Amino acid sequence: MIYFQDLRISYTEELKAAAARVIDSGWYLLGQETRTFEQHYAHYIGTSQCVATGNGLDALTLIYRAYLQLGVMSEGDEVIVPANTYIASILAVTENRLRPVLVEPDPDTLEIDSSLIEAAITPKTRSILIVHLYGRCAYCQEIADLCRKYGLKLVEDNAQAHGCAYQGHKTGSLGDAAGHSFYPTKNLGALGDAGAVTTDDRQLAEVIRALTNYGSTEKYVFRYKGRNSRMDELQAAMLDVKLSHLDEATTRRRAIAHMYLQGIHNPLVRLPKVTAEEENAWHIFPILTPYRDQLQAYLRSLGIETMIHYPIPPHKQEAYSEWANLHLPITEQIHREELSLPIYPALTDTEASSVINAINLFKN
Ligand SMILES: *Cc1c(COP(=O)(O)O)cnc(C)c1O
Repeated sequence: MIYFQDLRISYTEELKAAAARVIDSGWYLLGQETRTFEQHYAHYIGTSQCVATGNGLDALTLIYRAYLQLGVMSEGDEVIVPANTYIASILAVTENRLRPVLVEPDPDTLEIDSSLIEAAITPKTRSILIVHLYGRCAYCQEIADLCRKYGLKLVEDNAQAHGCAYQGHKTGSLGDAAGHSFYPTKNLGALGDAGAVTTDDRQLAEVIRALTNYGSTEKYVFRYKGRNSRMDELQAAMLDVKLSHLDEATTRRRAIAHMYLQGIHNPLVRLPKVTAEEENAWHIFPILTPYRDQLQAYLRSLGIETMIHYPIPPHKQEAYSEWANLHLPITEQIHREELSLPIYPALTDTEASSVINAINLFKN
């Protein structure tokens, strides 16, 4: 059986030692472990600030909450978001009573189509939220230029792309602020829920830090109506160990992606397009085929597990019934045709070869 995901770790002794350190310390929240991880992660991403949060959705939500608090945006303002994304990106916008404006993806990269963004900008637009979906970079110069031209905040959803880079700069450092998720299956995953915001904007970081802790700037003094969204010391300690292994994990993902890109030759299957300026972190290896459900069943019959990212686009979800009549053909086609192949550090070359051979023999 080749599983879609296998989260087992080879360096468990390091994790156990770090967990023992936290247990023995008797200090479980808002301590040295979290401060250390924040420093290391900011350094890794290449920003001056990192604020740990309880999860990735909160990281994104609190970026916009802080912009509202600072008067940079107000309720009812518009945020441009990709139509092809995980629902959390959009929830972060609507949670703040901001209005998401969906933009279709580029059918080659599956990321937001930068050539369609300008037409979606109105006098109410305040921000573009790009999502580095599947671990590939959604940023480009054209998007940065639009943000400058219209005075928009560029926010990155980097939940799926730890380790991805654009012209040598890590995603998460390319815009005004970025939300990161450390959900266990992400490229950098905790042993539970965790997230973070990275930014070079010190003032924004200070507001977000207060918002994660009830809106408090000093004990029992509350400047904002905040929430409780803190990373705990145990997760920070786990993440600090895992961060030191992230580059080797990304290298392994890239090697598997390379095998798939070189090895899969089936006219029924479209492989992801690779571009020169980005270093893809390969969170997901998405292939497209009009025979997606048959291919998935065929692979399952051979003991190869795959997944679909995602079966239902956000604008077709019951949660967003206001978009029920919206028609976004490119997004909808991706959701009909996308299939994700196994890609994770523990996958062996032999297993990757089996996946390649099976797909090459697939007929509709
Ligand atoms: C996982 C994910 C999130 C949410 O992160 P959580 O830590 O699960 O809250 C946000 N955006 C994208 C694109 C994701 O994949």
